[in-house]
Amino acid sequence: MDVEGRPAIWRGMTDQSPISPPPASPPATRTEALARLARFLPHAGRDYASRRNHDLPAAGHPHVSRLSPYLRHRLITEEEVLAAVLGRFSLGSAEKFVQEVCWRSYWKGWLEMRPAVWAAYRRELAEVLDGADADLRDRLEAAEAGKTGIDCFDAWAAELVATGYMHNHARMWFASIWIFTLRLPWQAGADFFLRHLLDGDPASNTLGWRWVAGLQTQGKHYLARPDNIARYTEGRFAPKGLVTDAEPLKGPAPPQRRPAPVGDRPQAGLRTGLLLTEEDLSPAFVLEALETPPVAHAALISVAGRSPRAVSGLVAGFTRDAVTDAMGRWSGRIGSPGPVTDEVETIAAWAEAEGLEQLVTAFAPVGPAAAALEALEARLARSDIALSRVMRDWDAAAWPHATHGFFRFKEHIPELVAGL
Ligand SMILES: Cc1cc2nc3c(=O)[nH]c(=O)nc-3n(C[C@H](O)[C@H](O)[C@H](O)COP(=O)(O)OP(=O)(O)OC[C@H]3O[C@@H](n4cnc5c(N)ncnc54)[C@H](O)[C@@H]3O)c2cc1C
Repeated sequence: MDVEGRPAIWRGMTDQSPISPPPASPPATRTEALARLARFLPHAGRDYASRRNHDLPAAGHPHVSRLSPYLRHRLITEEEVLAAVLGRFSLGSAEKFVQEVCWRSYWKGWLEMRPAVWAAYRRELAEVLDGADADLRDRLEAAEAGKTGIDCFDAWAAELVATGYMHNHARMWFASIWIFTLRLPWQAGADFFLRHLLDGDPASNTLGWRWVAGLQTQGKHYLARPDNIARYTEGRFAPKGLVTDAEPLKGPAPPQRRPAPVGDRPQAGLRTGLLLTEEDLSPAFVLEALETPPVAHAALISVAGRSPRAVSGLVAGFTRDAVTDAMGRWSGRIGSPGPVTDEVETIAAWAEAEGLEQLVTAFAPVGPAAAALEALEARLARSDIALSRVMRDWDAAAWPHATHGFFRFKEHIPELVAGL
């Protein structure tokens, strides 16, 4: 452990690869999200169904939406994206795209009902980082720096660090090579993603890695095949030496599921402040749950909690800019502005100074923002200030269906999108 009580492996391991060009973040604004949606919309039907698996970074990944950083922070919502797509295509024609958006809701719901899986991942990651010997440490550094000698893997690592994005198919290949060819701990790979992905998300990321490893659908893993990589990178890579025959990782069966959470109803007649978090930056539905508008607003950012190590500057900057964008867009309707902070105590002090009796916020799913809200709730209780977490109708409708595999979940898609 170092002087700050952090495992030794964190020291000296930079969060930016030396091979990456200076990072440039895409605008973290709703305007950009809407522009991306408008550009992608004509491609959401047959083009997406037939070409979405092609990994074409030089062309700007033209066959996928690249909406994930915006959906992840809800600068644009699943409902909005699906309503726009289904306004243009039938459900049958846009089935593939609609399903992919619903994968996000499925993973979210699955983890909400089994939060112990996130806690176990965090515990195991700490053990991996703490217990890493010099050899593992070197191999982790080489993998993150894109210096393994596996050209496709090294290029994807560099793309991730430089842009904060990796195509879905590349994420699957990358995770598979990380686990089965390089034989690195999957938890460290998931952490590398969470520190660098602009869309880094506790549910989609942890469960995506578990799925590749064979831990999510037990006994069923994903092995990257050289011919598949060559085909879908359109000949850019023809990797040699990949392990194409390996046993899935073994782990405990998922824990018993608990019921899906439900949201709170804010109390009427209290002096209320709105709290934004990076989990949901479209707060209209929270305001609709209030009888009178909030008198003040502030934001609690938990991006540093995505990893025990430093998240990339790109990720931290994108998150902060996204929150600032939301506050700017809503400022007229959410009362006087307060702090944008990662300190629970600063929010509590602000709520006290404003004479607030209640804070309302969007329900934060399992992850660092939810943990920060829990700490805040305990702190606010000392000053008799209530914290009310309002749940979005989409989440309340979708999450309880994540009881088994996606196959069962997707049977509910027609009823989920019917109300849009
Ligand atoms: C190992 C691994 C880790 C991943 N980590 C994350 C993560 O941290 N955050 C994240 O948002 N996605 C994650 N994904 C899912 C997926 O790769 C990305 O959502 C997708 O690549 C984002 O690009 P896009 O917006 O162009 O997607 P599109 O193909 O245009 O899809 C539209 C939207 O649907 C959702 N979506 C698409 N595919 C998936 C999927 N398989 N699972 C969940 N949601 C999906 C995303 O919100 C995406 O923006 C991971 C996948 C794997 C295999």
